[in-house]
Amino acid sequence: MACPHCSSDRSVKRATNRLMCKDCHRSYNTPERQAAVDAARAVREARQGVAPAHDMTRAAAPGFQVKGTSTLYRDDGSIAAQWVKTTQDAEAMREALKVACAAMAEDLPRVAPMQTAGKVWDKRLMACYPIGDAHIGMLSWPLETGEEWDLAIAERIQCGAMAALVEAAPKTDKAVIVNLGDWFHYDSIEPVTSRSGHVLDSDGRYAKMIGVGIKVIRQCITSALAKHRQVHVINVIGNHDDTGALWLSAALAHVYESEPRVSIEQSPAPFTYFRHGKTLVGCHHGNTCKPDKLPGVMAADRPIDWGATEHRYWWLGHVHHQSVKEYPGVSVETFGTLAAKDAYATAGGWRAARNMKCIVLHDEHGEVARHAVSPAMLEVR
Ligand SMILES: [Zn+2]
Ligand SMILES: [Zn+2]
Repeated sequence: MACPHCSSDRSVKRATNRLMCKDCHRSYNTPERQAAVDAARAVREARQGVAPAHDMTRAAAPGFQVKGTSTLYRDDGSIAAQWVKTTQDAEAMREALKVACAAMAEDLPRVAPMQTAGKVWDKRLMACYPIGDAHIGMLSWPLETGEEWDLAIAERIQCGAMAALVEAAPKTDKAVIVNLGDWFHYDSIEPVTSRSGHVLDSDGRYAKMIGVGIKVIRQCITSALAKHRQVHVINVIGNHDDTGALWLSAALAHVYESEPRVSIEQSPAPFTYFRHGKTLVGCHHGNTCKPDKLPGVMAADRPIDWGATEHRYWWLGHVHHQSVKEYPGVSVETFGTLAAKDAYATAGGWRAARNMKCIVLHDEHGEVARHAVSPAMLEVR
């Protein structure tokens, strides 16, 4: 291959994919590497609507990508008419959201350190607050589903349940709040599922939903700080909030920058772990990995913690009901939700108890207690 800079064909191989010109001493791609780069560029450009060899010449607007073209040819092969259908570019949307969120977090007021009542905490116990599928932003119409759910109800029930569980929990040194995914009901300006594009029953606008979502998790953290010395927060990625869970953690990290008693898990991985003495807990939404694979995933991801612990648990959301299965070395539990059923779940026949739990872990003996709260218990009589 001739040098693209000086056209000399005297070259020497520098790295796996690069050649260096012996005459002008500049480097360039091997033919194989160049072909791969060109092919990737052609795919990128075609997605944007530009592939002249295929009569695609109209580039989509920024933030959009071409979903398809339909061309009507005359007998002589010339184009009589062409339809270009565009769709919002998911990648560009994700990038735009990320940038907007980083900017938003910069301006957020930092929370000042808070005091707790008393200075004696139980160091052997850890209070954990797994929150199954909060679905903030979902709308449930009682005539259709028999249950009511909107932004205001989600805020009242979620904050009320957390406060009641903190009240019931022992005064432990450490606490963990685990949002098990689907904290937000939808993940874009339009209330549709990000994978299949199904329209979701939603209450309010996206901006309103994220405003309530941030307020609710902050209130949950404030409740926990009133009793526990150290509070760790994990936001598991759900299938309803693939990007929402990520920016929520980033925003919370900024908000609690000056509060040494709060830490926010920042790992973008679908599996998150925490340990308390001889107890190891894995957190996962439940949509990407079958439960029977999870024991192996934990052992492979955390071999040292696996060896040093005796009580191991996986905590999952996604299915909106409780189930527990024991595998050798680890149990896999799915948690119910406080949220009502939407029309889709009602029609599909899903019926499950609605509640939230607090699980107390002992550093030597694993789970030693659990408390539960249901929406009915929080109703004002
Ligand atoms: Zn869900
Ligand atoms: Zn889900």
